Amino acid sequence: MIPVNEPLLDGNEKKYLIECIESGWISSEGPFVKQFEDRFATRVGRKYGIAVSNGTAALDAAVEALGIGAGDEVIMPTFTIISCINQIIRSGAIPVLVDSHPVTWNMDVAQIEAKITPRTKAIMVVHIFGLPVDLDPVLEIARRHGIKVIEDAAQMIGQTYNGKPCGTFGDISTFSFYPNKHITTGEGGMIVTNDDHLAEVCRSLRNLCFQPHKRFVHERLGWNLRLTNLQAALGLAQLERLDEFVVRKRRMGERYNELLAGVEQLQLPQDKVSYAENIYWVYGLVLADPVGLSAEAAMRRLAAEGVACRPFFCPMHQQPVLKRMGLFAEEDYPVAERMYRQGFYVPSGLALSDGQIADVSRAVKGILP
Ligand SMILES: *Cc1c(COP(=O)(O)O)cnc(C)c1O
Repeated sequence: MIPVNEPLLDGNEKKYLIECIESGWISSEGPFVKQFEDRFATRVGRKYGIAVSNGTAALDAAVEALGIGAGDEVIMPTFTIISCINQIIRSGAIPVLVDSHPVTWNMDVAQIEAKITPRTKAIMVVHIFGLPVDLDPVLEIARRHGIKVIEDAAQMIGQTYNGKPCGTFGDISTFSFYPNKHITTGEGGMIVTNDDHLAEVCRSLRNLCFQPHKRFVHERLGWNLRLTNLQAALGLAQLERLDEFVVRKRRMGERYNELLAGVEQLQLPQDKVSYAENIYWVYGLVLADPVGLSAEAAMRRLAAEGVACRPFFCPMHQQPVLKRMGLFAEEDYPVAERMYRQGFYVPSGLALSDGQIADVSRAVKGILP
């Protein structure tokens, strides 16, 4: 079976982990955490990096730190992971959804303005699959209406928008280091911001809102979202290789593009747009309408050929848990719905070989009617 993801851990990972064990520093108090935060923030070009236990936690803290709560509206894409919506809902705020663009698969920024109301508090942009959201129009709308921007850059480590690093565009921007991201700590995440106050609030939320002088007296409810020194050790070693990893992922995507070019039953990912080149977090495929094959059936056939695939995101407005809450009744977002029905991604991990890419491409062509 060709796995859907396998990370590369053959740099300084082992060396730094041994340092943790030999020094006895394994908790979040260890020195690698601060080093990883500083180097990551510098790499992204931001003042503060706050390491957290995962990308979902980073989003939870971002929403809470911005003071989003009951009655506030947050504009976000429907085509994304559930992590983006969790804290919006739990805080009593109202998620307001936007459909995807059929070519870039990102939120269609032309649909944002119409969703603004006096209650809109923030726009959450989520860069999808390796190509950034077209940020300039979003930032212009946010500025004009005095709205905050949360940037979920989990899939965009090492990517740029018009030459500027993704993760520099939100009032708060977040990352994930899950093993299928461009760099990994096993589980992990990072919040970045230039805002002194937001950084302090996020740091406090991460650590149960302990107070420096009255440790066990709390003025606010936080979480334990701390990253361990062991994870930060991995992160530091991975960060050293980020440029190499981005080049490698991009080359993998281009190779798939070459091998699958001209297959008319498939929509391939957009390789570039005016503001960025795809860095192929995952290599996604959308089956063309007349093929008459669902993503589910295609993935089943590919599994039988030894190729592990994963479905695209189920849109937020189709989530049973959210529908049961009475959310998004009567709403439909046809582009995202079609992507979910007909989209899936093929093995895309950093350890994938050229030979495996050729095998996967051959298998994909073989299962098409
Ligand atoms: C992976 C991912 C997350 C969640 O990160 P975890 O570390 O798995 O919690 C959030 N948003 C996006 C866009 C992601 O790709």
